[in-house]
Amino acid sequence: MDTEGMAQRGNREYAYIETDGQVYLVRDHGKLRFPRTDETLPFPTEPNGVMDFGSDRIVRQKPLIDHHPEEWLGRDAIFERSDVDPLVKRAIYTTLIRCVSEVIVSKGPRVLMVKAVRGFSKGHWNVPGGFMDYGESPQAAVEREAREEIGVRIVLDGLLNVYVSGFPGKPAYTLGFVYRGHLASEEFRLKPDEIEDDAWFTVDKALTLTRNPFAKWGLVDFFLQSSDARRALRVKRHGLADGTKPVDRPTVFLDRDGVINRGRAGYVRRPDQFEFLGGAIDGMRLLQDAGWRLAIVANQDAAGWKLLPERQLDRIHATMLAALEKEGVRIAEIYYCPHNVVSDCACRKPRPGMLLAAARDLGVRPRMAWMVGDKPLDVQTGRAFGCRTAWVGSAAWRKRFAAEVRPWSPDVIAADLRRAASAITKRGILEDARGSHDRVIA
Ligand SMILES: [Mg+2]
Repeated sequence: MDTEGMAQRGNREYAYIETDGQVYLVRDHGKLRFPRTDETLPFPTEPNGVMDFGSDRIVRQKPLIDHHPEEWLGRDAIFERSDVDPLVKRAIYTTLIRCVSEVIVSKGPRVLMVKAVRGFSKGHWNVPGGFMDYGESPQAAVEREAREEIGVRIVLDGLLNVYVSGFPGKPAYTLGFVYRGHLASEEFRLKPDEIEDDAWFTVDKALTLTRNPFAKWGLVDFFLQSSDARRALRVKRHGLADGTKPVDRPTVFLDRDGVINRGRAGYVRRPDQFEFLGGAIDGMRLLQDAGWRLAIVANQDAAGWKLLPERQLDRIHATMLAALEKEGVRIAEIYYCPHNVVSDCACRKPRPGMLLAAARDLGVRPRMAWMVGDKPLDVQTGRAFGCRTAWVGSAAWRKRFAAEVRPWSPDVIAADLRRAASAITKRGILEDARGSHDRVIA
């Protein structure tokens, strides 16, 4: 038993063991608390995720027992008892999922976004919607929220999807219902203390403006269902995926220069200037062997500035693909942006148009994808799409861009593609978000 008492707790690990709504607690100085992970339990357990409260780490465990433990405390009875450790109450309260309901309101290929004055999205664009009220259905909640925010009745055209997400720095999870809808009228009356602006955007642009993961995933699902939106997106590709059927499977998007090959001052403009980086081919093979599909997404400023004809770019890519094929590496498609920094195109990173095109052509889903790049704008692009991101580069390179990359907080930071690949295969896809907030430096 703990002889120091609970007041002196700090940086300890506790085990939260629950089954069928019953919670296993130990009595300590007249109070009921979670067992510490260094204390022996009277039954075996298996791991079931982690809850991080800063100084207290709570390891969730599933008990391996063959009876319903009547003698344990029921989770709902815990709140009215004064002899239960506050950490237990906090952990159980945190397991209650929050619910939001949101709507992608569209007009042709464009979607309606609103700019918030307060809350999580303060100063950022978001889609209409918000928290569900006590006892409210998701449909009623989103209709009410939209009417409150923009003063217009919306008509729901169906549920796009239901998602679960954690939020950075918060151990609780939120369940998000995202609908598709249209407006009954366009006579907006914006709620003055909540919404400062409204506007219609293409999906690629909307993705760069919102920080809300439900809005991002909903926007991609809307894009895939909307023939107007799919048709409106024009992105150049090498043609490897022509005629293939879209399949949703784990995919890694790779930037080209600085990830696969060495970047060059004055650009790679001839096949003989294409030089694979150390670890690049090994990294691609490692990902492929672990079941990941590979797609390349590259800004081609040299083409944008008319320094590189697209026919020549095709030759460079054909040379690269031949070398990769010899090594047993298969690329699903190469997307490229042939524009330059002053163009307002959907495809130039940090706009996620190339990733959206891959969602359409290959069946990539943000929650099953990673974006790997050497520039802050690559990380920004992955974030915009709503997938996880890895940032690669030498220590000196990373030092140079550290401040610029910080707002986009990459999930993995690595010296080269081989190390990034190894971290990605360990982390997996976002479908199971538990314990996914820890940064990995590989
Ligand atoms: Mg690059």
